[in-house]
Amino acid sequence: MKAQAITTYGQPLEAVEKPTRQPEGAEVVVNVKHCGVCHSDVHIHDGYFSLGNDQKLDVTGARPLPFVLGHEIVGEVAAKGPDATTVEIGQKVVVFPWIGCGECPTCLRGDEHLCNQGFVLGVGKDGGYADECFVPHERYCLDYEGIPAGQAAAFACSGLTAYSAIKRLGDLTDSDDVVIVGAGGVGMMGIAFFKALYGRGPIVVDINDATLEAAKAAGAKAVYNSTDPNALKELMAATNGGAFGAIDFVGAEASFAFANGCLRKGGHVVVVGLFGGAMGMPIPMLPMRAISISGAFVGSLQEFKEVIALGQKGVIDAIPMDHRPIDQASQSLDDLRNGNVVGRVILDV
Ligand SMILES: [Zn+2]
Ligand SMILES: [Zn+2]
Repeated sequence: MKAQAITTYGQPLEAVEKPTRQPEGAEVVVNVKHCGVCHSDVHIHDGYFSLGNDQKLDVTGARPLPFVLGHEIVGEVAAKGPDATTVEIGQKVVVFPWIGCGECPTCLRGDEHLCNQGFVLGVGKDGGYADECFVPHERYCLDYEGIPAGQAAAFACSGLTAYSAIKRLGDLTDSDDVVIVGAGGVGMMGIAFFKALYGRGPIVVDINDATLEAAKAAGAKAVYNSTDPNALKELMAATNGGAFGAIDFVGAEASFAFANGCLRKGGHVVVVGLFGGAMGMPIPMLPMRAISISGAFVGSLQEFKEVIALGQKGVIDAIPMDHRPIDQASQSLDDLRNGNVVGRVILDV
């Protein structure tokens, strides 16, 4: 197996060859055709996540080196074990990478994306910056016919994350406004999925006017630049006292403060972004405002099936794709780290 791999954290990826083996049981080997480059790949490549106040969450112990990043994997079934009966050799599949142990209480309730065991492709196990990817069970290989391959790859992370975060808000009435804070790649997916689910646009907040223009063109109901000191007051007035839901796609102190601050009583803020920072809040505000604060991390296999079904219905607007050859993987991580990427980088293998 040829791959672009981490050999030293924080250093450029290197071309490596790793041994492969024949699949057993219901295992599947996928010939990778495309793999998305995600912002969390940058954090893993760095070897840490920022927790704010100069504290770092070291993530270097979670995998052996050399390690192959990439969890947005699309390809063709190249080989399969004798028990894999639902996929065919040559079938085009998108891979659900958020794989758990299958045995712990979290996995048993269908939340294997939240399992602690570290089987996630491209995070704990070798992923898709390679010509081949080993998938431990055929059930993680889904047909995506009708969806462009690059979009299907992005659905495995940003699409699933956006969809699952919206679902976390629960049932919405027609008068429940939802605010999306941060209209980067995942936030734009959030706009697309919100429109598909509710037939109307969310309110979008960002710090960049060009991003807000793009959000407006993508169907946002209204847009606010949070660097404008009047933005929060105007949003509160326009929503008749605040939004029911807010999704923080940035995960920074300022974005969370805005998302939390724009809620009406009984509202719900879901944090998705991993930018970093810390939050402090008087505890009595939780009961007095009756708000819910939750975090969402990607989504379940069942939710991924729902995402793919929505994609196949053709109701999800395409996000811009930037296809690059796989030997530009390291450069692509740097571009993403430095904010020099528009849309989603998809590595073509
Ligand atoms: Zn991702
Ligand atoms: Zn588990």
